[in-house]
Amino acid sequence: MKSFKSNLIVLGSVGLLFLGGCSQGEKASEPNNSPASTPAAAQPATTAKTEHPQASKGGQVVKSGGYHLEFLTEKEDAGTHMDLYVKKGEKLEPVPNAKVVAQVQLPNGKQQTLELKYDAEGKHYYGTFPGKEAGQYPVKVTANVNGEKVDGRFTFTQ
Ligand SMILES: [Zn+2]
Repeated sequence: MKSFKSNLIVLGSVGLLFLGGCSQGEKASEPNNSPASTPAAAQPATTAKTEHPQASKGGQVVKSGGYHLEFLTEKEDAGTHMDLYVKKGEKLEPVPNAKVVAQVQLPNGKQQTLELKYDAEGKHYYGTFPGKEAGQYPVKVTANVNGEKVDGRFTFTQ
């Protein structure tokens, strides 16, 4: 008789412990269910793409032959991000098949040449110039379009 009673007490306290644990668990998960976390996921993905401007705007423009070169720069942690739009004719059609080289003159007089790659989505050529020294950087851009050379001179400041 005595042992049966003590078994009931043990069962009872286990049940209380279980209930206590359950309600604590619910309290802990409450912040995850708050409505404040839902709007972030609903934001459109377009804002995440900031590396290249999707339209040419406010750059330095040089017209050479039947071509239109537009140069833009943006400071990045790694240096200066350069964007070059090569467009053809009065309709300003993007030229995707040029071989583009940027010859950058550093403030100390040295020159550095880098090839700009084409971004098919943004329809422009781009590259990152790694210089960090403050000053003026004259840039000579040469776009080789099927053997026809198109030059443009620009500058940017660091
Ligand atoms: Zn870019």
